[in-house]
Amino acid sequence: MNRTSERTWRIDADHGPGPVLVNRDLVPLRPALFNNFNCEHCGAPGPAPVRDVFIGIQILGEYACGSCGTRFFRDLPVGFQVDLPLAFTTEERRILHWNAEPWITYPEYAVPTDPGPRTERKVYREHDRIIVLNTLDHLYGHVLLKLYNAQHYLDHYKDRGLVVIVPRMFEWLVPKGVAETWVVDQKLSQARAWHPAIDRFVQEQLPRYKEVDLARGWGHPNMAGVDISRFTGVEPFPLDQYVSTAPHITFVARTDRLWFRTTLGKLCYRAIGALGLRNSLGRWFTYRQSAMMRSVMRRVKRALPDASFTVVGLAPSGGFEGLAEDLRTMRMDTGTELQWCRAYARSHIVVGVHGSNMLLPTAHAAGLIEILPRDRFGNFGQDVSIRYRDRMQLFLYRFVDEFADPGTVARNAVSMIRHFTVYHRNNITNTFGLHRTS
Ligand SMILES: [Zn+2]
Repeated sequence: MNRTSERTWRIDADHGPGPVLVNRDLVPLRPALFNNFNCEHCGAPGPAPVRDVFIGIQILGEYACGSCGTRFFRDLPVGFQVDLPLAFTTEERRILHWNAEPWITYPEYAVPTDPGPRTERKVYREHDRIIVLNTLDHLYGHVLLKLYNAQHYLDHYKDRGLVVIVPRMFEWLVPKGVAETWVVDQKLSQARAWHPAIDRFVQEQLPRYKEVDLARGWGHPNMAGVDISRFTGVEPFPLDQYVSTAPHITFVARTDRLWFRTTLGKLCYRAIGALGLRNSLGRWFTYRQSAMMRSVMRRVKRALPDASFTVVGLAPSGGFEGLAEDLRTMRMDTGTELQWCRAYARSHIVVGVHGSNMLLPTAHAAGLIEILPRDRFGNFGQDVSIRYRDRMQLFLYRFVDEFADPGTVARNAVSMIRHFTVYHRNNITNTFGLHRTS
C-alpha cells in the first residue's frame, strides 16, 4: 500500500499538486478515459483504461496495468476527490493508494444498493460534446459548492453542453443555460453508497455524445465571481444601497446547531443528547438561543431605532412578536427557500452559527456575523459565500466566539452599520481602485 508520495502526487509548476491534466478544468472521459498517472501497484505509467463507473458521489475509472496486470478502480479527480484519489483492486477491493477518505471501507459501500435511486433526464438543448458536473453528495454544503461550479463552465465553455447531475431537492438551484439535468431521486442521507442504478442510467446516456469531459466540481470555488441570482433568481443585496436603506438583519436560527452562552450549557446539551433526552429537554436550549437573539435585536434597536429584523430556520414560529418578522417553518420547500433568500437579499447582515446553512444567506446578504464554534476553526470561512475580493471582506464578515454574549454580536452589528460609510470611503473609494468591490 502506498501512502501519499511524490510518485503518486506529481507536482507541476502550472498545475500544482494533483493530477496532470491538459486542461485543468476538465477530466477526460470519452472517447479516451483519463489515465495520466502511474499504476498504483508497480508504478508503470499510463495504466490502460477499462471503463468509467458512476456510483454516486464518486466517479471511478477502472484500469488494467499492462506491466504488472493489476486491475483496479481509482477515483477520477473531481469533487472532493480532486487531490485524493483512492485506488483499490477491482476484485478484492484491496486498497492500493490510501487517502484521507478511504470511502470504500465505509459500511455504506459494502453492498451495492438495489434497486437504488431513479434518475430522470431533462434536455434543454442538444449537444454532442458535453461536460458533466456531478453534484451528488451526502452533505448539503458539498452539493451546493459543487453546483456553484456550473457558472464557470457555462461562461467559459459555450461550445459545450453542460450536464448537471443533481439531487432533486437542489434542482431549483440549477442555473439557466445548462444543456441537461440528470435529476436523481435521492435524499442526502442516501447518497453515500455504491449505486449501480445511477451507473446504469449514465452508461445508457453516454454513447449519445461524441465527447465527454468531467467538470472538476471544486469544493471551494471562488465565490466573488459567482452571480447567485443565476442560481436562485434572487438578486443579492446591492452594496451601493447599504447606506440608503434602513438596517435589516436576518437571524438564521438552527435548532440542530445552537448558539450557547456558556461551556457548561454546551456540555449539558451534549449530555442530554447522549441520554436521548434532546426532544424534551433540548427545547430549553433553543429557547435560550431565541432569547439571546431577541437580546441582540433589542440592543441593536436601541442604537439604531430604524433597524428591523427577520428570523428564519427549520423550527416552529413564534416568540419574536413585535420584534422580528418570523419566517421559521417546519415545511421546507422551494417556496420557503425562495422566501428566505429574499429575506437574506434585503439584509445588511445575516447572523448565525457556523454551518453550510450559511452559504445561501451569505450569498445574498451584504454582511455576516458568525458564531464560530472552536471545533470548527479548521473549517473557517468554508460556509461563507464570500462576495468581496477587497478589504470589505474583512469589514463585512465578522466571526465571534461560540460563547459570545448578545452584547458582542450587537456591538459588531452596530459597527458594521455605523462605520460602513467612512470605512468604504477610506479603503475602497480613496485608493487606486485596482480591487474595487463596487
Ligand atoms: Zn502495474
